[in-house]
Amino acid sequence: MAGEPQSDCLFCKIVAGEVPATIVRETETTVAFRDINPQAPTHVLVIPRAHYPDAASLAAGAPDIAADVLREAGQVAEQEKVDESGYRIVLNTGSGAGQTVFHAHAHVLGGRGLNWPPG
Ligand code: IMP
Repeated sequence: MAGEPQSDCLFCKIVAGEVPATIVRETETTVAFRDINPQAPTHVLVIPRAHYPDAASLAAGAPDIAADVLREAGQVAEQEKVDESGYRIVLNTGSGAGQTVFHAHAHVLGGRGLNWPPG
């Protein structure tokens, strides 16, 4: 069923506390933790506790939680003090775009110059 935990999903395991993560913020609906392979001085992932495979399916199935993820991304940027210098929220969608974990997540990247367009 949409939103239910998946036994083979790494990020569901982080939500459940079965896989360790450096958690920086938590809400009733979201968890934010440091990326294990950071691409910038600040690189935090914000995920919904509920399992949706990508951002589009999250927005379609649980729009309130999709909004929570975006709000939390902004809160992370503020907490990490990258909000004034500028930061990037990335939602890789599909393996062709670099998505490797199929549990919706927003990357929050900041603390260095960010080029446009991204690679
Ligand atoms: P994607 O490539 O957009 O799907 O992003 C997945 C991200 O998850 C990558 O940036 C990985 O470095 C990160 N990642 C994978 N495993 C872990 C973990 O166990 N803890 C924290 N981040 C992880």
